[in-house]
Amino acid sequence: MTAVPRVELQVRSPVAPIAWFTNPLDWRPIDRQILLGLLVLLAPGLIGLGLGLILLIAPKYLHLGLIGPLLALFGLHLLLMTGFVIAALRRRQRMDDWPAFEGFVIGSFMFTVFLTGYLTGTHFAEALLLTFLGILVVSTLGNVRRLIVAFYIGSAVLAVLAYGDVTRAWPAAPALTRPLVDADGNAVMGLILIRIALAVTVLAIARLAIGAVARWVERENLYREMSSVDGLTRLSNRRSFIERGESELSRARRFGDSPVACIMVDLDHFKKINDTHGHHAGDQVLVAASSILMHNRRQYDEVGRYGGEEFALLLPNTSAADALHVAERIRCEIAGTPVDVDGRRILMTASFGVAAYPSQEVTCLNDLLKAADKALYVAKETGRNRVCMEGMETPQP
Ligand code: GH3
Ligand code: MG
Ligand code: MG
Repeated sequence: MTAVPRVELQVRSPVAPIAWFTNPLDWRPIDRQILLGLLVLLAPGLIGLGLGLILLIAPKYLHLGLIGPLLALFGLHLLLMTGFVIAALRRRQRMDDWPAFEGFVIGSFMFTVFLTGYLTGTHFAEALLLTFLGILVVSTLGNVRRLIVAFYIGSAVLAVLAYGDVTRAWPAAPALTRPLVDADGNAVMGLILIRIALAVTVLAIARLAIGAVARWVERENLYREMSSVDGLTRLSNRRSFIERGESELSRARRFGDSPVACIMVDLDHFKKINDTHGHHAGDQVLVAASSILMHNRRQYDEVGRYGGEEFALLLPNTSAADALHVAERIRCEIAGTPVDVDGRRILMTASFGVAAYPSQEVTCLNDLLKAADKALYVAKETGRNRVCMEGMETPQP
């Protein structure tokens, strides 16, 4: 048995998904709202826990008359949110989106954070940071229009608080029993403890924000890949090949018309392969041919699937004569590489058309593609399994 050159079926590796569960960005709005609702409970949960601990270890710094009701409010928030989540879990069977629930999620988060911020004198520091991180998480999972409304409301609340701070219209940090700083200008222990409690919440929500952005980037990459890579062969699709061609030609123009070659490749009698061996075998032949094209390209060459069984190579800084050699090398390899599919050995050949920019006839990408296609047509007409070049007198045998 003759040794068959190894054909790597996977040409480009797909984007690796983050493993732990499916990307929430692909979920239905109501499912994302349920997740958001659960995440938002981190704020009253962690801040409440921190304040509770301070009450236990250093109660003298906190104004019990205000912290008690605040903790009760956190408890109410927890109950209401749990009720909403249970209702949403029931409703998700018959509805896709529940705007009122999302409004409650965003509104209650902001209310909790700003109220705690004002009561503890941290509304321009930790509370603002928490709001920003909340915005980051919601902007990936929620409805951005609702977020913009929340943004303006939050800005107005901050403006009111700033007014109070400047005019001293109402007491600063009323939940703290002592001034925020001592006579030497150092923060008092109560404030330090509160800041530590808030920092834990900030860190937890910052980690969530990183996760949300990572999911976003993952999905962006996936969509970019889906819109530019051919699903079967994993070569550039026609659109992204043309995009690359346009940018290569404008680069070539900037650098004094350095040559750019194009090779069009079309598998010969491919329909017969499909008819004889089946569509699945035809697909495997396409993948094998793509693989040969890919490992014959240089670093800056572009290989695209131009049509069904038609491929195109773009070779920057390459003259037509050099591209002719490349094409001939690929032609030999394709003809000498049978593809094994389900125990059957399928032989394939391909025809090639070569053209290069710039020339009298080739002044833009469209001309280049047309010229290579014309040469390919000549290769087909004169017997297939051969390379022809635009303007070449007689095709190669
Ligand atoms: P020629 O030598 O003149 O190029 O003949 P051909 O049979 O290769 O060309 P033709 O255009 O007649 O047929 C191309 C065939 O390629 C027809 C189409 O069904 C098949 N094809 C296109 N895309 C795919 C694909 O993704 N998978 C498979 N298996 N076949 C495909
Ligand atoms: Mg063909
Ligand atoms: Mg064809």
